[in-house]
Amino acid sequence: MIQESPAYFKENIKQISEDENLRRIVRKATSLTLSKRSDLVTEYYSEGKDWEALRNQAHEIRKKTIDNLDTYLTDLEDHFERNGIEVKHAINASEACSFVLRILKEHNTRLVVKSKSMVTEEIHLNDKMIEAGIEVVETDLGEYIIQLAGETPSHITAPAMHKSRDDIGKLFSEKLGVPFTNDPAELTAYARRFLREKFLKADVGISGANFLIAETGTVVIIENEGNARLSTTLPKLHIVITGIEKVVPTLEETATLLKLLPVSATGQKATSYVSFINSPAKVKEDARPGKIIVILLDNGRKEILRRQEVREALYCIKCGACMNVCPVYQTVSGHAYGSVYPGPIGSILTPFLTTLKESKDLAYGSSLCGACSEICPVKIDIHNALLWIRSYAVQKKYTPFIERMLFKLWRIAMENIFVYNFGRSLLKFLQPLWSDYKDFPPLAEKSFHQLWKEGEIWNKNS
Ligand code: SF4
Repeated sequence: MIQESPAYFKENIKQISEDENLRRIVRKATSLTLSKRSDLVTEYYSEGKDWEALRNQAHEIRKKTIDNLDTYLTDLEDHFERNGIEVKHAINASEACSFVLRILKEHNTRLVVKSKSMVTEEIHLNDKMIEAGIEVVETDLGEYIIQLAGETPSHITAPAMHKSRDDIGKLFSEKLGVPFTNDPAELTAYARRFLREKFLKADVGISGANFLIAETGTVVIIENEGNARLSTTLPKLHIVITGIEKVVPTLEETATLLKLLPVSATGQKATSYVSFINSPAKVKEDARPGKIIVILLDNGRKEILRRQEVREALYCIKCGACMNVCPVYQTVSGHAYGSVYPGPIGSILTPFLTTLKESKDLAYGSSLCGACSEICPVKIDIHNALLWIRSYAVQKKYTPFIERMLFKLWRIAMENIFVYNFGRSLLKFLQPLWSDYKDFPPLAEKSFHQLWKEGEIWNKNS
């Protein structure tokens, strides 16, 4: 059984990597998204535009924002208040959940509709609301499927990526009592029928945010299904829960990020809906939502900000492209990571959302091929941040004792030719024993050092 903790990464990998069917589903889904993205980037260049320049621009926007996060958060909060949006700051998951539960109680909430929000997954808000006796309905189709299955998302933009159409058909038939079908249009129609009624009855809508514009006090939400717009406009109260890093200084800079995000996330030029929420409804007294509350969550983000080596992780606009392109993610899928944020960027964020001791193995779940950094729309140096986490875990002595000793020996050997030569002779002597258990290419008869000394290298090249 897959464990929902990064501490079980290695065990989870062993189990999942044997599941050929899962690997096929995930590879198919990630390849499709990557190929749509690649077509759009080619089209972008063919229109005479420069995708690389756009990425550089986005990197600079994110760098400027994160380097001056306090200033932009103050500006954002001022504008929210001027627009009539209430703001709360939560230090950690438990404080954020307490705020939400208190607000829901004050508003006599029985039914909450949610649009997709990874931050609410991060703080395990659904469990807390359900424990408090509140009905919670996920309205994003992928999230709805996951909720019906009693699972967690396996990808940040495609939560049900690990499920085939047949899997979903069986699930709907079992949980909703509808005839089996694997036709996406019919499955969507079933979900829509159920969800429409919930939208109309919901007391509160909870959403995340893709961006928060400081200069105007605006919450930006992008989506394809219209469910976020219904969740944020039909109930009388809208609660936004999001990380502090989502702030963007200006509307113009948000427009730059909006050009990159859908292309990188789903291979679309633009999503079907882009909502800019500036204030509660003002036209009539009973217009909805009458109230908007934004909860800005830290939960380890300020610690990332303090660490120069990983600070760029806060530039992330949560497109999921680094997961799609990662050969490890493609093989083990999202659940193996035991974290809300899987894949390369998740392996940087998770140690700060949990503990490094618990999550240290995630940074080793990378071939360091650099494909993640290559594809990232905001040019985060992902693979070097992963390397730093590895070295930090070693410094903290979180890696196994034997491994640390072997690396110490290796270092001594590399610094001293006599020890190196002795080690080499020892290895040559031991190799036949080792080879009984493991294939190992035979060691060369002579070392490079010997060949050089004897002039053989020189002779071969001349
Ligand atoms: S790190 Fe880059 S590629 Fe990965 S999710 Fe974030 S923005 Fe996308």
